[in-house]
Amino acid sequence: MASAPATPSSPVRVRFCPSPTGNPHVGLVRTALFNWAYARHTGGTMVFRIEDTDAARDSEESYQQLLDSMRWLGLDWDEGPEVGGPHAPYRQSQRTDLYNDVAERLVAEGYAYPCYCTTEELDERREAARAAGRPSGYDGHCRDLTAEQKAAYEAEGRSHIIRFRMPDETITFTDLVRGELTFQPENVPDYGIVRANGAPLYTLVNPVDDALMEITHVLRGEDLLSSTPRQVALYQALVKLGIAKQIPAFGHLPYVMGEGNKKLSKRDPQASLNLYRERGFLPEGLLNYLSLLGWSFSADQDVFTVPEMVAKFDIADVNANPARFDLKKAEAINADHIRMLDTAAFTEACAPWLVAPYAPWAPEDFDQAVFDTIAPYAQTRLTVLSDITANVDFLFLKEPVFDEASWTKAMKGDPLALLTTARENLQGADWSSAEALKEAVLKAGEAHGLKLGKAQAPVRVAVTGRTVGLPLFESLQILGKDASLARIDAALARLAA
Ligand code: GLU
Ligand code: ZN
Repeated sequence: MASAPATPSSPVRVRFCPSPTGNPHVGLVRTALFNWAYARHTGGTMVFRIEDTDAARDSEESYQQLLDSMRWLGLDWDEGPEVGGPHAPYRQSQRTDLYNDVAERLVAEGYAYPCYCTTEELDERREAARAAGRPSGYDGHCRDLTAEQKAAYEAEGRSHIIRFRMPDETITFTDLVRGELTFQPENVPDYGIVRANGAPLYTLVNPVDDALMEITHVLRGEDLLSSTPRQVALYQALVKLGIAKQIPAFGHLPYVMGEGNKKLSKRDPQASLNLYRERGFLPEGLLNYLSLLGWSFSADQDVFTVPEMVAKFDIADVNANPARFDLKKAEAINADHIRMLDTAAFTEACAPWLVAPYAPWAPEDFDQAVFDTIAPYAQTRLTVLSDITANVDFLFLKEPVFDEASWTKAMKGDPLALLTTARENLQGADWSSAEALKEAVLKAGEAHGLKLGKAQAPVRVAVTGRTVGLPLFESLQILGKDASLARIDAALARLAA
């Protein structure tokens, strides 16, 4: 029986090795995070490798986005693109010669062989096997072709792929998340490692690079579990050839489920990392949430910092059960991280949403000092940073944004009468005290038989344009008496028209 060790003895070397296809998604970020946290927890090495061997699907734009995303998240790497390292280059598209050498050696030593079967032949035999109730994977047809048989196929003008010869034995390994797993040989047929055009396949390049880069722990998504027995067998051959030092330990991270308990797909809009960035998730808020997909910090605490996570993280504590992606929880955790920032960091984090294309005001109308005054009220209320724009726009726009739905909702009953009284009371109030402004509106409400909540709604809409927002009386103070009263006058004029 062939088996892989659960825990290699050398210092930890993990890798994050995405393919640059499409936008990074949250499942990928979770994989990056767990690898990174494990490297940092153990004092090991984080290798970042780009698996760009599929020219048809890979793009330079996606490659740049991967690097940019990792940097934004703060997941740094010790070896990889733009950093270099002893196993450079770290882009597979630049390592083709290495793969060709390994493939040749595998064939020379009998671990792999050319397969001349055509697609039609393979399909036909697969159908026949299915009909007969036999395993329908590759049947080993070309395993032991003689030199004459090969020559005959070549003479026919057939091309060939290279196939890896699976050992006829059970493959066992101890998954760091799922425990001991066993695969029977009839379920793991010989598989292609080099295309007919000579291009090496993922099935070859991924374990070969893990071997050459001396990876000790392969932590990746459960979707790759079915390729692991094949890779373990290939590793055994690489160890025998002296190309690999050891077989890495494997840990397969649980599936992430989205809406309707379906696997969260890469294409699901909810999965896009850019979406979270644009909405103003803090990297530490997002990482905190994503770390909970399969792992937990403690039974009674799910908000923590990235260093706190690193201090505790162990792959052995990852749970094999599918994890559910819960947007509301992600937002709540992000809100907590926003509150944890000191004032200066919060102000700085808001900066991107206070300029074009997010900010609707003219740049010269923005006043940093005014923003700094309102910032503490916003900090305790934001879920995502992008909400800052609508919360403060009334301070920097010449006129508030008039949201018609808010206007209709707030201007009920006799708003003209109420606002007239409120204006009078505010006019005479002490503007140095938010309490006094509240009293002024409260009194106006009483005069018209309205509770404070109902009485302040028209004032809020008149001044800010919206029915919800930051604490009203502090907002009025920050906007200032003249501007606030002028806006109430404008609303009165509109009501009277
Ligand atoms: N490039 C592979 C992928 O993105 C990585 C697989 C692995 O982690 O082994 O699916
Ligand atoms: Zn064949």
